[in-house]
Amino acid sequence: MAEGIRTVMDDCIFCKIARGQIPSKKVYEDEDIFAFQDINPQAPVHFMMIPKRHIASLADATLEDAKVLGRILALSGRLAREQGSPDGYRTIINTGRIGRQEVQHLHVHVLGGPEPFGRMMPRSA
Ligand code: AMP
Ligand code: ZN
Repeated sequence: MAEGIRTVMDDCIFCKIARGQIPSKKVYEDEDIFAFQDINPQAPVHFMMIPKRHIASLADATLEDAKVLGRILALSGRLAREQGSPDGYRTIINTGRIGRQEVQHLHVHVLGGPEPFGRMMPRSA
């Protein structure tokens, strides 16, 4: 895929959020990463971490993306603590049709709060 296509997708909602073209509740930003509150939180702490560069899904990531994906994971603990989940959290990356990914820009959900979650995510019906 051409570099230009992977950098920004004009009709991608998360590319627009990362560029400030759609408002969001920002949690963190640097040159390569944007983090923002989920609009429909599933837990007391629920924010999303995305690479600013458009990557459609984890299944589309390549070794070129390893650095930014590693940085996202390495930063998640600090942001989770800052957002009110000091004692651990859950990261989820829904991928593709089987993973029921709804927004086609790779995003890492970070979920937490004061109480532990169930042991595993339930299977859908
Ligand atoms: P997924 O099913 O993993 O693709 O999750 C998509 C997530 O994006 C859902 O948790 C939505 O609540 C969230 N979402 C969709 N639109 C927005 C938005 N404009 N701002 C923040 N979160 C959003
Ligand atoms: Zn995008």
